[in-house]
Amino acid sequence: MDGPSGSGKSSTSRGVATRLGLRYLDTGAMFRAMTWWMLQQGVDVDDPAAVAARVDAPLMVSGTDPQAPTITVDGTDVAAAIRTQEVTSSVSQVSVVPEVRERLLREQRDIIGSGGIVVEGRDIGTVVAPDADVKVYLTADPEARATRRTAEMAGSTVQATQADLLRRDRIDSGRATAPLTMADDAHHIDTTPYTLDEVIAQVVALVEQ
Ligand code: C5P
Repeated sequence: MDGPSGSGKSSTSRGVATRLGLRYLDTGAMFRAMTWWMLQQGVDVDDPAAVAARVDAPLMVSGTDPQAPTITVDGTDVAAAIRTQEVTSSVSQVSVVPEVRERLLREQRDIIGSGGIVVEGRDIGTVVAPDADVKVYLTADPEARATRRTAEMAGSTVQATQADLLRRDRIDSGRATAPLTMADDAHHIDTTPYTLDEVIAQVVALVEQ
């Protein structure tokens, strides 16, 4: 399941995994956890060489229960800490570093193993799991995306959230390695006019086809 922030990926992925009894992996949370750790360590996240030099240090563990996903870094639960504005505004810069992508790609493929999992991110259908049984690419109007994200994150306005989403879209889509693009064989769903339950039902139908 790929798509930009606020397109409904997380809620849809978790709902689909729950309905089908599958595991769930949020790869965005892994990039956020790496970013959180870099900031904690005082690494200059705008310096790709500095980020690359430390990329192997943190131990990250992702739990794959769709009803209670977890993520820890060196044993610390960072589920809440990775959703702060500070992490959100630095994550695209960290995600662009090839060494970060290489490390997380290895871990993502280890977790995916032989399948039975819904994985959400930006490059799942194109890079992480090009042989996935079903690929879905979600989008939504920028205003709908910003409204959803603002509801999830305390202390922000729709306008500020929309500006940040569009900034991250530009970086995520424009980077050389694993840019946000739709796989040729992905099913595109624009979630703007649908409720969450309707989108989940559409994806479940694709899986059961
Ligand atoms: O999905 P979420 O907004 O939590 O992702 C945070 C950031 O992580 C994205 O803006 C993107 O820079 C990065 N990311 C990525 N590749 C993925 C998942 C997320 O580069 N597969």
